[in-house]
Amino acid sequence: MRKNQKIGLFGGTFDPVHNGHLIIAEYLRDELQLDEIWFIPTGKHPLKDNRQISSVEHRLNMLRLAIADNERFKISEIEIHRPGVSYTIDTLNELLETYRDREPKFYYFIGMDNVNELHKWREPEKIVEKCQVVAFGRPGFQPQLEAQPFVARIQFVHVPLLEISSTFVRQRIREGRSVRYIVPKEVEQYILRHALYRRDDK
Ligand code: ATP
Repeated sequence: MRKNQKIGLFGGTFDPVHNGHLIIAEYLRDELQLDEIWFIPTGKHPLKDNRQISSVEHRLNMLRLAIADNERFKISEIEIHRPGVSYTIDTLNELLETYRDREPKFYYFIGMDNVNELHKWREPEKIVEKCQVVAFGRPGFQPQLEAQPFVARIQFVHVPLLEISSTFVRQRIREGRSVRYIVPKEVEQYILRHALYRRDDK
C-alpha cells in the first residue's frame, strides 16, 4: 500500500455478494475519491444467526468472482481468520496498527439499517473517532433517534437505491426464480453449480 491512501472498508456477510453491494462500493469509491475498497466478509457475526450463514469458503469464492475485474476492489480476510465473533472496533484497530507507517485514512461503509443499529455495536464512539463512517441510504430505512449520539460524526452520502438484499437473492434461488442481473453472472453460476440456498433454513 502507498502512503496516505484513502481506503473504503465494506464489511458484510456477503451471503451472497450482490450487485447492490458492488454498485454502492463503486459509487462511494468515485464519490469520495477513494484509492481502494476492501470488502471484509464477516467470520462469525455478532448480530446474526450464524447457523444460517453459508460457509466462509463459498462466501469468499463468490466475492472473489464478483470483484475480479476491478483492480481497486480487494478482499480483507481479517475477520475470517479471527477466532470467535468479530467486532468492527477490533478490525479497525488491527488495520490501523498493521498499516500504521503508511498512514491510510479509512472510510467505513454502513447502510442505513446499520446506522440504526450502531448503538448496539461495541464502542461505537471509538469507531466514529478512528475512521470516517460513511452511511448510505437503504430502501425502507430512515435514521432513528437511537443513532443520535454518533450521527453528527457520520458522513451521509446519497447512493442510488436498489431494493435488493442477500436475503432476497437466497429467497429467489430457493423458489427457482432468476437472479440474473441481481448478482454478477459468475456468482449466479457459482450458486447454481454448488446448489447453494436450496434449503429452507438458508
Ligand atoms: P442479508 O439480506 O443477508 O441481511 P444484505 O444484503 O443486507 O444481507 P450484507 O452483506 O449483510 O448484505 O450487507 C453489507 C452491507 O451492505 C450492510 O451495511 C447493508 O446495509 C448494505 N447493503 C446491502 N444491500 C444493500 C442495498 N440494496 N441498499 C443499501 N445497502 C445495502
